[in-house]
Amino acid sequence: MFSGSYHGRKHHRNDILDVLKKASRHHVVDILLTGSSLDESKRTIEIINSLRQQVTKDDTLKLPELYSTVGVHPCTVLEFESAESVEQHLKELENLISEGIKSDVVRAFGEIGLDYDRLHYTPMEKQLVYFEKQLQLAAKFDLPLFLHMRSACEDFINTLKPFLDNNLLKNKNLLVHSFTGDKTQLEQLFQLEKSNPHGYKIYISINGAGLRDTSTLEILPLIPLDRLMLETDSPWCEIKRTHPSWKYLSRSPNAFYPCDYENYELVEQRSGVRELKENSVKNKKNSNNTNLTLFDFLPIPTVKSDKFDKFQHAHIFEDSPLIKSRNEPCLIGLVAQVISEVRKEDPQKIIDSAYQNSKQVFG
Ligand SMILES: [Zn+2]
Repeated sequence: MFSGSYHGRKHHRNDILDVLKKASRHHVVDILLTGSSLDESKRTIEIINSLRQQVTKDDTLKLPELYSTVGVHPCTVLEFESAESVEQHLKELENLISEGIKSDVVRAFGEIGLDYDRLHYTPMEKQLVYFEKQLQLAAKFDLPLFLHMRSACEDFINTLKPFLDNNLLKNKNLLVHSFTGDKTQLEQLFQLEKSNPHGYKIYISINGAGLRDTSTLEILPLIPLDRLMLETDSPWCEIKRTHPSWKYLSRSPNAFYPCDYENYELVEQRSGVRELKENSVKNKKNSNNTNLTLFDFLPIPTVKSDKFDKFQHAHIFEDSPLIKSRNEPCLIGLVAQVISEVRKEDPQKIIDSAYQNSKQVFG
C-alpha cells in the first residue's frame, strides 16, 4: 500500500518517503516494521537499507530510525510447505536474521504465533507446527519475540510454555502485539509469566484493532503501565469512525502533534476546505464535488487512494495527504490518546512509558 498497490492494482506512486517524513514531523523517532513472510522480511530489510543510504547522502532528509522483525506470520506459514524444503526455508530465515543483526536492522523475531480468526489462510494444525518450529529457531538468537495471537490463547500458551519452562529463549522479552483479547486471556498471559522462575516478561501492544469494541476497551486499564506498548500496525488497524474509541479523539491531542501546527480551523479556512464544505451543505447536488477534505483530527488532507496522484498540493499543507482507510505511523498519537482517555491517565505518561518499554525490549 505504501508503494501504491492495493489488491494487486496500482493506485498511486510510491509515497513511502512522504509517509516517513510525516511520521518524523509527528515526533515518531523509531519504527519497528514487521515481517510476515521470508520474502516480505527480505524486502523490508532492503527498503530499510536503501532509506538509510538516502539519509546518509542527504542531511536535510529527516526520517525516523527504522528497524525490522523477521518471521513468518501464522496466516503465511504454508510457505514452508511450498518451499524447496522446510529445513531450507528455516535456514534462509536464519541467515536473513544473522545478516540483519550484523547490519543492525533486525531487532525482533516475528511475527510468529497463532491466528484462529483466519483459518481460511492456514489450518490450525499447520499453524501449530510452524509456530513451534520458528520458536526453535528463535531460541538460537538473542532477540525478543514479536508474537501474534488471535482467538487462540490456550494453544498459544501451551506452545510457548515449554520454551519458557525449560528456559530455552536467550532473550526474556515477549511482545504479544495487536492485542484484541479479553480479560481472561490477558490474565492467562500474565499467569504464564508469573508461574515461570526464569524472568520472562510479557508485553502487550495495542493498536486500533484493540480499540474497536467496548469489550476490548475494558481491558486497557488492566495492562500494567510497564508492560504496555503502542503501535499503529499500519497500513492496517486504523481507528475507524464506527469504533467506540473514535469518541475519545480530539484535535491536537498530545505531544505527537507538531507544535508548529497552525490551528485546525485556520488551515481549514485558508486551504478553502471550509468553503467547499459550506457549499456542499448548501447545495447537496454538488456534494460529490467536494474532493478535498481534512482528516478529522489533524490538519492534513485525506484523499482516496486512486485520487492521490491527482492531488494538487496546496502550500498551506505541510504534509502530503493521508489516504482513506490506510493507516500511517503519524497516527500513533491517536492510539495513545484513546488509551489515556480510557485509563484516565495523562497521555504523556502513557507515551513516555510505552516508549521506554519499546526501547528496553527492542533497543
Ligand atoms: Zn499481527
